[in-house]
Amino acid sequence: MTIGVGLERAQYLLEHGDVVAIPTETVYGLAANAFDVDAVLKVFEVKQRPSFDPLIVHIGRKEQVRDVAKDIPPEARALIDRFWPGPLTLVLPKQQRVPDIVTSGLDTVGVRMPAHPLTLELLRSLDFPLAAPSANPFGYVSPTTAQHVADQLGEQVPYILDGGPCSVGVESTIIGFEPVPVLYRAGGIPVEEIEALIGPVSTTTPHSLGEGPGVRSPGMLLSHYAPRKRVIVGDVPDLMRTHQGKRIGVISFSQDHGAAINEVLSPSGDLHEAARGLFAALRRLDSSHVDLILAEVFPEEGLGRAINDRLRRAAGGVA
Ligand code: AMP
Ligand code: MG
Repeated sequence: MTIGVGLERAQYLLEHGDVVAIPTETVYGLAANAFDVDAVLKVFEVKQRPSFDPLIVHIGRKEQVRDVAKDIPPEARALIDRFWPGPLTLVLPKQQRVPDIVTSGLDTVGVRMPAHPLTLELLRSLDFPLAAPSANPFGYVSPTTAQHVADQLGEQVPYILDGGPCSVGVESTIIGFEPVPVLYRAGGIPVEEIEALIGPVSTTTPHSLGEGPGVRSPGMLLSHYAPRKRVIVGDVPDLMRTHQGKRIGVISFSQDHGAAINEVLSPSGDLHEAARGLFAALRRLDSSHVDLILAEVFPEEGLGRAINDRLRRAAGGVA
């Protein structure tokens, strides 16, 4: 495994059916040629990802959306114009050439144009799009630095393209059209901004729908984005009293709760800054000496929705 900024090396590997870890503004992805079934299979193997969980297809130019998707509704057009490149995935009817392994047999494909200069340059150097889920073992906290990828998948990934720490830090917002716009996963673009553009978006809480085959989005998995240690989300001072005697690590928005380890995500109360630091903080606590991770409930607005969603799932859906 090598970490570097060699675009040509990344391009070469991808063109020869290999996988490469790539930086995006959301999290690091594990990429393969979306049109090459054997290359995509490697992504599933490396991640130990169940085949029912489809991959997002990444493109380098807006027009490329037609290479992978068809029947694009006007709301999707408006979202593409406004938010691409950016942390927004659209689930659209797929073109036949997109292999079933990418979409888990669904007749739709999740597609987005990421906003990372290095990865955009890479995508534009290739004549195929990249299928890429997050570059971590399935179910674990997503990676937001090249080192996070190396720590967990280093032996299995020939090259990690280092684009620095991810600027958004939580995964993309996923929107589907059934045909009304539906939020499948809260993420880097706040749903309020999407609604301001296209009107109401249905937010049927996916985690209430259970898990297993047929899931529409990872947001529907009750336990995901999870560290190994137990995570509890709620009123932190109360929980600290309940769990007195344990070594406690706390994830909070702006307040220090005086635990053994305190991960205060944004002392100035900025949800963007909090989202950016969330996964690194979860990883630090997971590899620290604490027995238990407690997390605040963040404001349920803007990026706070995505943060709360990830924390709930880190807690295994019990919060
Ligand atoms: P990851 O970022 O690794 O969690 O993976 C991206 C997520 O996008 C997957 O877990 C999918 O559930 C979601 N996704 C990709 N394609 C589709 C699709 N056709 N329909 C619904 N969700 C999708
Ligand atoms: Mg993932």
